[in-house]
Amino acid sequence: MYELVIANGLVITPGGVIVADLAINGEEIVAIGFGLNGERVIDAAGCYVIPGGVDPHVHLQMALAGMISTDTFTTGAIAAACGGTTTIIDFADPQPEQPMLDALSARRSEADGQVAIDYALHMTVPTWHGADAGRLHEIPAVIAAGCPTFKLYQAYNRMELDDVALYRVMCAVGDAGGRVVLHSETGPLLEVLRAEAVAAGHTAAIWHERTRPARLEATAIHRAAEIAYLAGCPLYIFHVGCAEAVAEIVAARLRGVDIVGEGCPQYLLFTAEKHLKSADGNLYICAPPLRSHEDQDVVWAALADDDLQVVSTDHCPWTRAEKLGASSFTSVPGGIPSIEARLSLIHHFGVVEERMDLSRWVEICCTNPARLMGLDRKGALLPGYDADVVIFDPEREKTITVDALHEAADWTPYAGISVAGWPRAVLLRGQLIVEDEHYVGQPGQGYFVAREV
Ligand code: MN
Repeated sequence: MYELVIANGLVITPGGVIVADLAINGEEIVAIGFGLNGERVIDAAGCYVIPGGVDPHVHLQMALAGMISTDTFTTGAIAAACGGTTTIIDFADPQPEQPMLDALSARRSEADGQVAIDYALHMTVPTWHGADAGRLHEIPAVIAAGCPTFKLYQAYNRMELDDVALYRVMCAVGDAGGRVVLHSETGPLLEVLRAEAVAAGHTAAIWHERTRPARLEATAIHRAAEIAYLAGCPLYIFHVGCAEAVAEIVAARLRGVDIVGEGCPQYLLFTAEKHLKSADGNLYICAPPLRSHEDQDVVWAALADDDLQVVSTDHCPWTRAEKLGASSFTSVPGGIPSIEARLSLIHHFGVVEERMDLSRWVEICCTNPARLMGLDRKGALLPGYDADVVIFDPEREKTITVDALHEAADWTPYAGISVAGWPRAVLLRGQLIVEDEHYVGQPGQGYFVAREV
């Protein structure tokens, strides 16, 4: 007799898709089989039983230019939970002079006791830590503290690392057994293009895309990939949204570079032409920018074919007033909220619209991000894994609205979009945290998860 059995669902495991029962004791999955008996039974007939989603790229309560991104660790984690995500990875961002381990514990103290789901942190390496005389000697200790992934930028003043700094950080991370996650754009040149556009009187949102050409994005990926190869460092490219970036990643992999990449829902569903040119175009400013329908087709195909491995959200919400109040595209806080709808959006536009099968959906939203980020008990329905489980009702039709979501922002780019399929129930380490689409958990029951890649 097991403590809990999720019965009769279509269970999506790494080994195949079967109608079966899934048994849980305590916090762990202990068996998948037929006719399993439980003290408690949840009937999942007609539903998919999948691992809790893993979103490896979110920005909760992130400070930027005197503002703080709209979702706290509390609201963002509840929204994630209601959308079927049970693990998120956010960031620790060291200030100048601040040791990385201090930044890690400071960020943990903001999250611990607040998060409704499990979480981990990437360590940002800003310019002031990435130089030769910076703090690269701290990297092994950061990895030992359960934070083996390091976020580097090739764009944004004060964050962008030049090729020499990239090389030094990648050598240090590679030597210590970590992985680099990278925002790849040709930053310094983008600043010139943006200044030129503003000087010519172009302040509308579409100029955000026109001053961040896809070909320059690809150039940055090309350089980073070769530097990673030289340094012997595994590389993960964040938020891939254009054909040129996909082509560079594929070509680099064929040249022997250890490189993977992620897409995000906003790049798969929105375009520069429609959304940045709309009356509320500022809302859709994120970097890299939205691209074209042709780019979307390439990114969808790359996700289906394993040219890209993950869908994250890069969830970075701001209020309408913060986004629309800017007088120029150059001063809009960048980012889009997506944390809650990710699983359902990729299910609907990926699986229902026949761009990928059920197993691939689970791989890119759950299994691959867990594996690549070193979450060794997450992302798969297998005995011994954490009992993070989503009972996903593929027949549930839902039209997304701001009010229906648990995200804190007063807008969502997905308002009015109808999807087939939504999580009905969600378990975090064996505990029911979402029941009949209602959050029933405790903020603070999520843990920091130490990772090893
Ligand atoms: Mn980001």
